[in-house]
Amino acid sequence: MPIRLLSERVSSKIAAGEVIERPASVVKELLENSIDASASSISVEIRGGGIEYIRITDNGVGISSSDLELAFKRSATSKIFEIRDLDSIATLGFRGEALPSIGAVSRVSLLTRTQNDTHGASIEVLDGRISKREEQAASIGTSVTVRHLFHNFPGRRKFLRTVATETKRIQLLVTRYALAYPEVKFQLRTERSLTFESAGSGALDEAIHSVYGVQVAESMLDLGQFNELQGVSSMSVSGMVGIPGLSRANRTYISLFVNRRWVQNRMLSYAVEQAYHGFMKERRFPVAVVNIKIPYGDVDVNVHPIKAEVRFKRDEEVFATLQKIVRLSLTTHTPVPDLKYMSHEIPRKVDITQSGSAFWNTTPFDDSRGSKVSGDPNVHILTHMKTLPILRVLGQIHSTYIIAEGPEGMYLIDQHAAHERILFEKTIKRDDSSSAHIQSLLEPVTVELSVDQSDLLDRHIDTMAKLGFIVEDFSNRVYILRSSPSMLKTGNPGQELMDVLDLFNEGGGYESWKERAAYSIACHGAIRAGKVLSSQEMNELTKDLENCDQPHTCPHGRPTMIHITNSRLESEFGRT
Ligand code: ADP
Ligand code: MG
Repeated sequence: MPIRLLSERVSSKIAAGEVIERPASVVKELLENSIDASASSISVEIRGGGIEYIRITDNGVGISSSDLELAFKRSATSKIFEIRDLDSIATLGFRGEALPSIGAVSRVSLLTRTQNDTHGASIEVLDGRISKREEQAASIGTSVTVRHLFHNFPGRRKFLRTVATETKRIQLLVTRYALAYPEVKFQLRTERSLTFESAGSGALDEAIHSVYGVQVAESMLDLGQFNELQGVSSMSVSGMVGIPGLSRANRTYISLFVNRRWVQNRMLSYAVEQAYHGFMKERRFPVAVVNIKIPYGDVDVNVHPIKAEVRFKRDEEVFATLQKIVRLSLTTHTPVPDLKYMSHEIPRKVDITQSGSAFWNTTPFDDSRGSKVSGDPNVHILTHMKTLPILRVLGQIHSTYIIAEGPEGMYLIDQHAAHERILFEKTIKRDDSSSAHIQSLLEPVTVELSVDQSDLLDRHIDTMAKLGFIVEDFSNRVYILRSSPSMLKTGNPGQELMDVLDLFNEGGGYESWKERAAYSIACHGAIRAGKVLSSQEMNELTKDLENCDQPHTCPHGRPTMIHITNSRLESEFGRT
């Protein structure tokens, strides 16, 4: 299709705005162009987090030489033409904004050739102006090179994170597209070394293998077969989801696509998570790669210039269908959900000899934490007072809160938040030269990490070792784990390492890597809500909390306790 300028009437209907915020936005737009051009092989090369250099080469249809200048004009596109085309967008791009926007903030050169041309054509654009135009030998396809991003926008440049962070974003993006397009062979080269490659065989499990490794790939269930059971529906759900035993510490392993467009959508993610209800412990998340195929007319992608947001005409139907199909795959795989995680009740038999045993072996499942206490002056969420009085533990409520008495009334302590605070401070204050907190494994464990995890580990292998994870690089994202932090007691050190890396990856407002790591370990190692505690455990926890520098909040800033004063109790009972 030729590239044409959209009329003012059409372009005014397109969600406008700047799309190039950071190097990853350039990569996203160029990847989308390559996919729209039906490429079967796309290679991405970056240096300096993409700020210095990005090159994307595809073997797609190419741009005809006579269209080259037009491609860099605003609102010039070969993908839509009329207003009604906006009602059913079948391509990833449609705004005609990417190339001119990239051209305005960097030095771009583009080399391309179509099947019909005998020669390739190249064009160079500097700060929005065409600076060179040539005939040049080229193979069929397109190669776009972007240098010195934002060199003319120092303000924008200032907002970029470190090279490592920008690299990570690009990596995430390329791996997500590899999951969405298993038939396309993707390659990513970072600072000249090949850091990711997908097979491009068309098989989703192979794409999953390339991103997450063989263990994950072998623990996935195929969703495709369950669509027929749905009866008539214009939408279909395909992809793979992890077996319930495959769980992760955060949502980043849930990849969602709508008509193979990568979307970030809370509703869809929630539908997937809900399908695992009863199959997975609290605050654990599944691995999922799911595509929703829906008539183009039933979904609006023209919501935001970045195009990562979508709106559905019938979102309830989409939610219900997605949840049902994921659920079906799980129940078919495991007909009787593990009762251990199903119960909403407190286990009847409490084994008080269990002190110090695995933390997650009882029944969590209450999300209704979070204290909604109003402005009542007699009910305090203690965030200001520095020290904690000596408390006498009375018992536990809802397997989640410790009830204690102090000189000034009653205290309710959130066991998970309190334990997070304790572990966080212990990790931070520890003397790095000691190794008392490190527990050697009797048998070293081999762990296969995802692209993101291994990238992070390679960069922080010393910090991880100080924390207790002594790891050796074995080969191609497989590592040998020799020890783990003794405060983590799940009995599955490989999983612990992966979870800590995932939490680490999420970042947060922590200043140093040490704080961030301490936060990850605390978050991971803390006793969960729903765990029945012995009185000895409760006493220890309360005492440890009394010794903390900032006992009143967990490291995320949530309160660890609520205080109900004696006078409040008296007034509630009508004694005043
Ligand atoms: P859009 O993708 O919204 O149409 P772009 O500015 O990204 O806008 O690209 C403008 C046009 O240039 C596209 O419509 C397409 O015709 C052409 N084009 C861009 N990149 C490629 C590519 N890699 N292969 C073939 N054609 C491309
Ligand atoms: Mg585009």
